[in-house]
Amino acid sequence: MSKNGQITNPPTENLVIVGSGPAGYTAAIYASRANLKPILITGFQKGGIPGGQLMTTTFVENFPGFPDGVMGPELMDLMKSQALRWGTQLIEEDAEELQLRRRPFLVKTNETLIKTNSIIIATGASANKLGLKNEDIYWSRGISACAICDGATPQFREEELAVVGGGDSACEEAFYLTKYATKVHLIVRSKELRASKAMADRVLNSQNISIHWNSEVSDLYGSNWLEAIQLKDLISKKEQELKVKGLFYAIGHTPNTDLITNQLNLDSSGYLITEAGRPETSIDGVYAAGDVSDWEWRQGITAAAAGCKAALAAERWLTENNLIQIIPRDKVEPEKVFKSEPIEITDINSFNLNAPYQRGEYALRKLYHESSKPLLVIYTSTNCGPCHVLKPQIRRVLDELNGEAQGVEIDIELSPEIAKQAGINGTPTVQLFKSKNLIKQWKGVKQRSVYVEAIKQNSYKKS
Ligand SMILES: Cc1cc2nc3c(=O)[nH]c(=O)nc-3n(C[C@H](O)[C@H](O)[C@H](O)COP(=O)(O)OP(=O)(O)OC[C@H]3O[C@@H](n4cnc5c(N)ncnc54)[C@H](O)[C@@H]3O)c2cc1C
Repeated sequence: MSKNGQITNPPTENLVIVGSGPAGYTAAIYASRANLKPILITGFQKGGIPGGQLMTTTFVENFPGFPDGVMGPELMDLMKSQALRWGTQLIEEDAEELQLRRRPFLVKTNETLIKTNSIIIATGASANKLGLKNEDIYWSRGISACAICDGATPQFREEELAVVGGGDSACEEAFYLTKYATKVHLIVRSKELRASKAMADRVLNSQNISIHWNSEVSDLYGSNWLEAIQLKDLISKKEQELKVKGLFYAIGHTPNTDLITNQLNLDSSGYLITEAGRPETSIDGVYAAGDVSDWEWRQGITAAAAGCKAALAAERWLTENNLIQIIPRDKVEPEKVFKSEPIEITDINSFNLNAPYQRGEYALRKLYHESSKPLLVIYTSTNCGPCHVLKPQIRRVLDELNGEAQGVEIDIELSPEIAKQAGINGTPTVQLFKSKNLIKQWKGVKQRSVYVEAIKQNSYKKS
């Protein structure tokens, strides 16, 4: 590997796995247990967050081994820990380029260049948008592609909301939003739901969900925030305005195959083509796993199974071609995984003016008024997967800055008034304050360097 994109002459790796959903992590678990010491590129922004789609959901009730269900982000944390325990090396970046027409293959990220004999593509799929003319204006100002992440924000509470789509995700999201909304409108293009029977029944029997069949959203209105949508009946062609403060997209996914266009065989929708039930792609040594090559089943367990097949196939292929390098682990039986506990909410007794990272509105008020250091406030909500990714990143930033800045975590469900005052309309949001002034705000997950740079620009400098 080489830093900063400098092309030195990196050693050739056995296997690079691109993507950190169930497919990627399962492949990593198998390959690391087989002593291949795989590198896993987690992804960061391009095709979804590290951990993949399950980071955007709450309870996963159908993944075997969890009789009481498991939260999506927790399941992905467990998979990650298992992969790390057996020696997987993580690169927390997006893969920017794959060169598959040369051997060994080349994988480029922003900061790293890797040569590898085999690759598993597990880049999953990304949520689709409607492409409406005002979509960008109201994106994150009323429009969201993740009800589970954003539904709890104060602006959506006790308001009418809408969900577009007719599949499992749409039904799940509509049902979830009834917790917060006065009413949820489900906008369905056809005259039936494509969701599983159990999920569809839940929605059809809900008093708080009103379904608009044969309908589509044709326009969006509002000022600073979405206030209404135009709904078009596709049969009568009549239009009506629906006053909603939130519009949640659940209209399917596009496979993340930009990296391999013109290099591997893709179908007309962009899915990576393999022989049915097999991981091999059109290039020897390159394997596909999970939703990136599966338009049909698209489940955590099917993605994990595909990751397993891809890793076994890669190992077999490396062996048959005398390319395998067995890299024994230091310990045959690695240490058990250490599980870190969430930090407690800070109160009058536990507050520390110099602590790098605290939680809750008491700490925020005190630091805002009394600290002279740059202050990062991270607004989160319980079930928000991206928050789960971002929190440890922010803690790392603050640890690395060694006291130069401080951080406070605010759960917007516990502190809705603070969130409202701060104008928070989605999680995660990070605000940087210095001497009570708001210097910068970021929505979503950014690279650590973005926060570091902003803090450094606003640090107290000795003359
Ligand atoms: C709201 C919702 C609820 C769901 N609920 C369930 C459920 O209850 N049970 C169930 O079994 N399934 C559920 N699913 C489906 C399940 O999440 C997917 O089938 C599964 O996550 C697919 O796994 P994957 O590993 O193929 O891809 P994904 O989970 O999509 O992961 C893809 C990974 O690739 C990474 N990536 C993309 N591009 C790049 C790049 N250029 N460089 C590096 N990395 C990249 C992304 O960051 C991500 O980490 C749900 C899906 C959604 C959206």
